[in-house]
Parts: sequence; C-alpha cells; structure tokens
Amino acid sequence: MKVYKFGGASVRSAEGIRNIVRIVSTVSDNLFIVVSAMGKTTNAMEIVLDHFMKADRDASLQKLAEVESYHDQVITDLFATKENGTAAVNPLFKELKSLITSGVGDDYDRWYDRLVSYGEMISTRIVSAFLSESGIGNEWLDMRGLLITDSNFREANVRMDESQLRLQKAVDFTKNRIYIGQGFIAANIKGDPTTLGREGSDYSAAVVGNLLNAESVTIWKDVPGILNADPRLFEDTVLIPELSYLDAVELAYSGAQIIHPKTIKPLENKQIPLYVNPFGTPELTGSVIRGSIQKPIDVPVLILRKNQVLVTVRPRDFSFVLEESLSKAFVVMNKHRLKISMIQSSAVSISVCVDNTRYLSGALDELETDFKVSYNDGLELLTIRGINDAIVQKTTGGREILLFQRTRRSGRFLMKE
Ligand code: ASP
Ligand code: MG
Repeated sequence: MKVYKFGGASVRSAEGIRNIVRIVSTVSDNLFIVVSAMGKTTNAMEIVLDHFMKADRDASLQKLAEVESYHDQVITDLFATKENGTAAVNPLFKELKSLITSGVGDDYDRWYDRLVSYGEMISTRIVSAFLSESGIGNEWLDMRGLLITDSNFREANVRMDESQLRLQKAVDFTKNRIYIGQGFIAANIKGDPTTLGREGSDYSAAVVGNLLNAESVTIWKDVPGILNADPRLFEDTVLIPELSYLDAVELAYSGAQIIHPKTIKPLENKQIPLYVNPFGTPELTGSVIRGSIQKPIDVPVLILRKNQVLVTVRPRDFSFVLEESLSKAFVVMNKHRLKISMIQSSAVSISVCVDNTRYLSGALDELETDFKVSYNDGLELLTIRGINDAIVQKTTGGREILLFQRTRRSGRFLMKE
C-alpha cells in the first residue's frame, strides 16, 4: 500500500480537489490518503479560538461563519449535487457552534486542539464525499480514535504501539482499496483531541506509512519537488532529485519549509521512501528521500529561518556554564517548548537562537531566576550547506551578522532581518 498526503494548498479550492480525484484515479495500489485543512483554515480557526478564549463568543461565531461560508463556496463549486457536500460537513459545524456557545475557555492548549482540529475533520469529509460522488469508493476515518498520543496538547507525541493496534484494526484493504484520514490531528488515550504541531500533516502521513508498513509515502505539494532554496527568497533555484534521510533531517531542522522536521524518523526506521511530487503536474517526477542515494547533493543548499531570537543567559552566581548551569538552562527551555536552532557557549554564558513563539516570554521569566538574560529579536538564520566564498558574499554581504558558525561543509549566519 501507499500513503498519499495532500496539503492545505492542494485542497484550497474545488479545482484542487478535482485534481486529487484525477491523481487518485490513475493509481491501482491500495491507498491511505492523508489530508490537511483547506487553504488557510487552520489560521482562521486559530482566530476563532482566540476570540473564544477571550470569552467573546459573538466574534468567535462570526469568524466561524467566515470559515463556513468559505467551505460552502468550495462545496458549491465542487459537487454536482450540493447536498452531498453539505450533508458531509453540517454536523461538524453544528458541533463547533455548540462547543463555542456552551464551552468555557480554560486551558488554551487543550481548547486549541479541540477546536482547531475541525479544519481537518471538515476537509476530509469533503474530499471523501467528492471521491464517492466521482465513483471512487473510499472509507473515511476519524484519526482522533486511531492515532493515540500523549497529552502534550498542540505538540503531542504519537504512541506508536497503541496507534498501530488501532490503525491496523481499522484499515482492511480487502474491504476498501482507499482510506482517507486527517493529517495533524489525533487524540490522547482518554479521547481528548490533540494536534501534532503546525504543518504536522506530513508527520501524520509518515506515521501512518510506518504503522501500515507502506511501500512509499508521497507528499503532493505545490512546488516541483525539493529545491535547493526557497524560490520566493532566492534566484536560480534547482531541483534536488534525491536526498538521504540525513540530508532531509538537516534541511528540515535548519528551517527548510518543505517538510515537517519530525517526518523523517518514522520513515527512516522502516526504510520507507518519501516522494515529494508536484501536485499541479503529477506526470513530472519530483524528489525522493531515502536511505541510499545514487548521487550526493552537488549544489549549495540555502535555508532561511525567519523570526528568530538570540537569547544569552549568564549564571547569576558566576558559575561556569558548561559545568554547572547548562542542563538547568536547557530544562527550562525544553519545558517552555523553545525550538533551538543554534547554540554557542563561552565560560560564563550560553547563547541560543530560538523561534520567536508565544512561549518565549514564559521561558525568559523562568530563566531570570538563575540567570541574567539578554536577547535580540527580529533576526533570521541563514544556513548554507555546500558553502563557498562566492555564495557567502552573495547572500550575506553587507549584512550585520550577530553569530556565525562554520563547519567543513556548512555555514550558519544569524543576521538582522
Ligand atoms: N492544517 C495544519 C496547519 O496548517 C496542518 C498541516 O497543514 O500540515 O498547520
Ligand atoms: Mg498545511
């Protein structure tokens, strides 16, 4: 069997969903299809949630009405019989409205997962109903009963053993050739919805691939494949046809937006290849990530990670950082979910470059107990793999660099945005 994952951009319009049907109808393999929320629905649901948490139900319901009308438009454009589409999503919007009107927003992260997860519930209902209307039999699954995670809301960790039992029980390719489930969402053992982190649908697809022993996982994207740089930021980008798992992990960790960083491990563990294919031109080959590759990457790879903060901490009692304080600082950062992208230490200080998230201020407050803390925000981190002087000059020339690290093959530059 194979796993296909379609992201938000692929399902943002009726045209995109028709293209899914086109792609799916050309394969005869057993398929598990993983789908994200449509277009910018997750962002919109975050706004619904924010109003709800501020106890502004009217504003929350009003934003939800926008989400509903967007989906309604896609349904109108898509289905020959509109009722096929509305019948699939109406119960979900009803549930959402009743959660918003009767719920009390106590715990932000828990409510995030409860509400925002509906984006994927709705999109998969639509895709499943449209596949059926197009004569492609399929079974829709609620991943909130099949992927089991811990209760680390908004960034839950999948429990592979329990999930495997449930998923293998639910999926029987002798009964259905095509199953469809949500990316990004899951539940803890008690059944409370959880999510796997923003852009987590790739990770869901990889986990499903692992648990069902897929022959391959394919992520369909609105790009030609994996490029050596983001074409919106750099000129003259080229396609990288083949990457090793290690290459892919390093690129994702450096901030390459192409795949979610957690995606590779479940695939590497079972040596399942990951294809990144162009959604708009499925006849062209994209990129493949796998264990052994024919030809190492021979072009420089540029990755820009925006919205970074450089945090420097010094123990207040002047103790040596590496001997005494390192673990204390990291425990606090980990507890507050800081994503560390670079580390530098001296005798009495340690500097880390982290994503600027809503958790940062809580972490800084707690670090203040034992450390003197200073920070710079508004930074971006450029990673160059396959570094040479010309490319350094071209990409960093004239820029103010706050921190620079170099190894034999790579360079990392933390700069003002
Ligand atoms: N819908 C989620 C997000 O936008 C998950 C995903 O698309 O991968 O973050
Ligand atoms: Mg997405």
